Amino acid sequence: MSDFTQHMATFDKGWVWLVGAGPGDPGLLTLHAWHAMQQADVIVYDALVDERILNLKNDHCLLEYAGKRGGKPSPKQRDISLRLVELANEGKRVLRLKGGDPFIFGRGGEEALTLVEHNIPFRIVPGISAGIGGLAYAGIPATHRDTNQAVTFLTGHDATGLVPDSIDWNAVAKASPVIVMYMATKHIELITQRLMDAGRNKSTPLAFVVDATTKSQNVLETTLGNAAADYKASDLKPPAIVVVGDVVRLRSGLDWLGALSGRILEVDPLGTRKQQDAG
Ligand code: SAH
Repeated sequence: MSDFTQHMATFDKGWVWLVGAGPGDPGLLTLHAWHAMQQADVIVYDALVDERILNLKNDHCLLEYAGKRGGKPSPKQRDISLRLVELANEGKRVLRLKGGDPFIFGRGGEEALTLVEHNIPFRIVPGISAGIGGLAYAGIPATHRDTNQAVTFLTGHDATGLVPDSIDWNAVAKASPVIVMYMATKHIELITQRLMDAGRNKSTPLAFVVDATTKSQNVLETTLGNAAADYKASDLKPPAIVVVGDVVRLRSGLDWLGALSGRILEVDPLGTRKQQDAG
């Protein structure tokens, strides 16, 4: 194999790279992410970064944790950003490793703007976001020609921890055939109620994809109307992606992980073939 890294950017001292680690499975790291891990002096990582990924670091690289630990409150966002500035000013190659994609509900933009403010050079390495890659591992496409021509990504709580009022729930419920929700389990009852109040049918398929792409991945298929009760009755815990819409029905045909352990996949999960044949 030719050395693919020869045409890739060199990680210079005093730089910060904001890198997406993907949803969990180390195989979903980008080559840029892997290459950065081979060069970094320090990796500042979040709670959602899989341990198997951290194990890919080079031998001299230090690991610094920037999430919640042992019930202590998490460090303030501003403090994390300033820590990146401090490490870069010490001349280190600083790899800021974040779950999924740094620019999808990951505060990557805030951290990068602090770097700009302090004249620290930086690079962004996108990652596979849980709302796309996690769904794919559950056998649920974010879009499918027969079900949706649009998809909405939203977060179930804002900076204050409450369901975001800035989201026009009526508009989302009506206009978005598929809704992919991050951080939505805490307020699942309120969120599903808002969507139903806005006219979304309670029988709309909904799935929780928990620990997506990791060894403990678990998928709970239910409906908008039953989601809150079913989640409560389960022993599932975050992180989870919640997906609402007809794409969830495709899982009976596309659960490729399930097929590895014997699930028989349906050829026509939406029942559209018969209609086409008849028409
Ligand atoms: N930047 C990340 C999202 C960070 S917000 C990304 O692009 O994926 C944290 C939320 O992401 C979690 O509350 C959960 O909703 C989702 N999430 C991240 N990793 C996940 C995983 N492996 N399985 C399920 N959900 C995940």
